[in-house]
Amino acid sequence: MRKIHQKQEHTSSYYAATVNEKTAYPALRGGVSADVCVVGAGFTGVSTALSLAERGYSVALVEANRVGWGASGRNGGQLIHGISGLERIRKKHGESVADLLWDIKWRGNDIIRERVAKFGIECDLKDGYAEVATKPGQTDWFAEYVEEREQHGTPKTWEIWDREQTRELLGTDAFHGTFVCFRDGHLHPLNLCIGEARAAYELGVQIFEQSPVTGIDHGSRPRVRTADGYVDADAVVLAGNAYSQFEPKHLANLVFPAGSYIIGTETLSDDMAAEINARDVAVCDLNEVVDYYRLSADKRLLYGGACNYSGRDPASIKEYILPRMLKVYPQLKDVRIDFEWGGKIGIVLNRVPTVGRINNNVYYCQGYSGHGVSATHVMGEIMSDAVAGTMERFDLFASMDHFRIPGTQWVGNQIIALGMMFYKIKDKLG
Ligand SMILES: Cc1cc2nc3c(=O)[nH]c(=O)nc-3n(C[C@H](O)[C@H](O)[C@H](O)COP(=O)(O)OP(=O)(O)OC[C@H]3O[C@@H](n4cnc5c(N)ncnc54)[C@H](O)[C@@H]3O)c2cc1C
Repeated sequence: MRKIHQKQEHTSSYYAATVNEKTAYPALRGGVSADVCVVGAGFTGVSTALSLAERGYSVALVEANRVGWGASGRNGGQLIHGISGLERIRKKHGESVADLLWDIKWRGNDIIRERVAKFGIECDLKDGYAEVATKPGQTDWFAEYVEEREQHGTPKTWEIWDREQTRELLGTDAFHGTFVCFRDGHLHPLNLCIGEARAAYELGVQIFEQSPVTGIDHGSRPRVRTADGYVDADAVVLAGNAYSQFEPKHLANLVFPAGSYIIGTETLSDDMAAEINARDVAVCDLNEVVDYYRLSADKRLLYGGACNYSGRDPASIKEYILPRMLKVYPQLKDVRIDFEWGGKIGIVLNRVPTVGRINNNVYYCQGYSGHGVSATHVMGEIMSDAVAGTMERFDLFASMDHFRIPGTQWVGNQIIALGMMFYKIKDKLG
């Protein structure tokens, strides 16, 4: 069984150092009753809880550490539409679901924008996400992006920058061209997660922190247990993603934790910030194993990447990531690095999030394969729909077959690491 991370405070990230609110929800003690118990207060759990509360359900949200402690409070903050693996769902179900999948693809972004506006969440939300080509052939994909959008009659919210414009606007010669989408963007993920949790709390959600769930007693009204208490509920939603795995009989070896790492520079001068990112967009390359970066609101460069599938974290995150950053921005060689941190993403072999139900009333949703800020929000809505009895979108995901790597999680991680080594070599060779 995967290790449960228990009662920890936030990691030493830039985000944790700049939170709007240090949450201090109580630990779960004694018995609580609710319509729904949600386990895990990352974006999936908080989003599900908030969506349910808005529909009038009573909800208990139980978190092992702090709200946003996992990937949701540590990520690159890149707001990218879509869910990994949707193309597989389209292949399985055919063209009749194409429009529904297109709506699902963009819904997460809309939910975030709606909530930021509705609840006044301060999370430095900005428009613009740039995909950059590190190899000339990758720019060919931009025509497909345009075609797909035009087919769906999407308003023109994108720009394509050629090599020269890319050099001018991103201050580097490393890229051959750029596709920028202004329906995507970037934000402070921990402040978004904490803000959404606050909104949920104000709508009546009972939030418990520092309360690792240790097990579930199944039945018509399952009991979710922690060391010092329990929640009885009509339905349970498991949202522990890469940091936990309940119900090994059903869920073991479907999602594999992989490390991704970020460094944060000191605040850059206005001139330097304008030189390396004149339009203040999030940036991600188009390789299989991506590098991604953006400027924070206070003009630090937050540069991340180097996904590590072996299950072992690097001895020094700074030494691991800095050479990648300097390859793109040699002009930052004298800049101080103030932050370094990592987090776990949940990888699924076929890249489709694993979604389903155990004993009819324990739902789960996990595994966004590194692309989850937006996806978790639409999945929260889909989980909330399912609990309320509307199954159409839930069934699309739940119908997908997932391969379980036999053996221990360690064996699975080594197999995934081998597979990814192939992609890393492919990225290098071009
Ligand atoms: C370094 C990094 C960079 C990333 N960058 C991006 C990006 O730029 N854009 C993007 O779209 N995606 C990105 N991702 C992915 C994205 O962050 C995740 O897909 C998303 O946050 C997953 O949210 P979640 O709520 O499912 O899981 P998590 O945020 O990991 O939350 C799971 C929660 O469950 C809790 N939990 C686990 N077990 C228990 C238990 N037994 N009892 C109670 N609680 C429990 C954990 O403590 C945790 O808080 C990145 C991820 C990482 C790690």
